[in-house]
Amino acid sequence: MNNKELFEKSLKLVPGGVHSPVRSFKGLHTTPRFINKAAGAYITDEEGKTFIDFCMSFGPLILGHKNEKVHEAAIKAMELGWSYGACEKYSLELAEYLINKIPFIDQVRFVNSGTEAVMTAIRLARGYTGKSKILKFNGCYHGHTDAMLIKAGSGLAGTSEASSKGISENIANDTIVCDLNNIEQVNAAFDKYAGDIAAIFIEPLPANNGLLIQNKEFLQALRDLCTKHNSLLIFDEVISGFRTGFNGMADDLKITPDMVTYGKIIGGGFPVGAIGAKKDIMECLAPIGDVYQAGTLSANPVAMACGLANLKQLTPDFYQELETISNKTVQTFDDWFSKSEEFNDYKMIQYKSLFWAVPTSDKLQDISAIPSNLADRFYKLFEVLLNKGIYLSPNAYEVGFCSIAHGELVLEDLKTKLWN
Ligand SMILES: *Cc1c(COP(=O)(O)O)cnc(C)c1O
Repeated sequence: MNNKELFEKSLKLVPGGVHSPVRSFKGLHTTPRFINKAAGAYITDEEGKTFIDFCMSFGPLILGHKNEKVHEAAIKAMELGWSYGACEKYSLELAEYLINKIPFIDQVRFVNSGTEAVMTAIRLARGYTGKSKILKFNGCYHGHTDAMLIKAGSGLAGTSEASSKGISENIANDTIVCDLNNIEQVNAAFDKYAGDIAAIFIEPLPANNGLLIQNKEFLQALRDLCTKHNSLLIFDEVISGFRTGFNGMADDLKITPDMVTYGKIIGGGFPVGAIGAKKDIMECLAPIGDVYQAGTLSANPVAMACGLANLKQLTPDFYQELETISNKTVQTFDDWFSKSEEFNDYKMIQYKSLFWAVPTSDKLQDISAIPSNLADRFYKLFEVLLNKGIYLSPNAYEVGFCSIAHGELVLEDLKTKLWN
């Protein structure tokens, strides 16, 4: 079956034909590509067409597709079994590796996704502080747990106020939403809800509603407010963790969060999420503390082994090389934009190996600054690139990712494809 036939079949079996909305090619004039296999920087669809992939599973694959060592770890772990619902040593090895490297966490708990990590972090913050409200930012995405679907990004970016139906007013009322890069609003929220804000949640590098790089001063001010009011500062590093560096944005900013959530890269393409914090916070979780959290498949031994095999390759030299690759890739796109007739107002906004194509050269730090024609313009850009064999994330507000597999040969191929 070709992509079109597969999608028609999928539409009958699955709502909208997809298991996650950003995969649906909504707004585009073409059907989703059904991926059959992948290797390195390339994906191949069911029609045998190959694309340079800059979506990279929306972030986890920092080593590229089908990395050899992760592959080996998966096979080796599988030989022994794949789910015990009991203690095993694989999660210990991963936990120890993380805790040894990340100075602000004493303990971790593994879950199965970024959403689950955030969900647990919310409950833990409330349980630890005894306060009820959560402050988040307009445009930041923290997965699909109810409390966070208030003005969220990712597949919801570009929609209006109500991010989702099915969220009760009571839940919405406990979430305070402020604009990014606007400390006055955050100050006002703390004045208004004095003593009842359990935590500020933020993507320290907001990368789910485009790439809205924040000033360090803003994030430092959030840190100071949380310290002053006994609220927790929670960095949602599901997308930035292990990507901007091993210790993520906390390290780039030199700001210490009270709690951190991880996902995506931590599992190397397998379903893993994690919550990390100091011991006094973490030990509020069951079975020691009264904050309940559990999971039948949590710390799955295959996923743990793959996560570790993935993270062990992320050395300082690795990040240096990845940055070089990313700079060259972004430069190549920018050159092409500037010489193209149709897209010469486009530029890439870049932070290390994350990039985002926008038809403006303005500095974008909150969602109100994003050009309103972004989505309309993007559809054309996406289709032009797709026809050239270049696969971006199929949504105007999703960022692109380079992996270590996007080296010189791929760069040459990218140039050939762009200029053809
Ligand atoms: C992707 C993402 C999530 C959700 O993770 P899932 O594994 O998709 O549930 C949460 N927060 C941030 C910052 C993310 O980028």
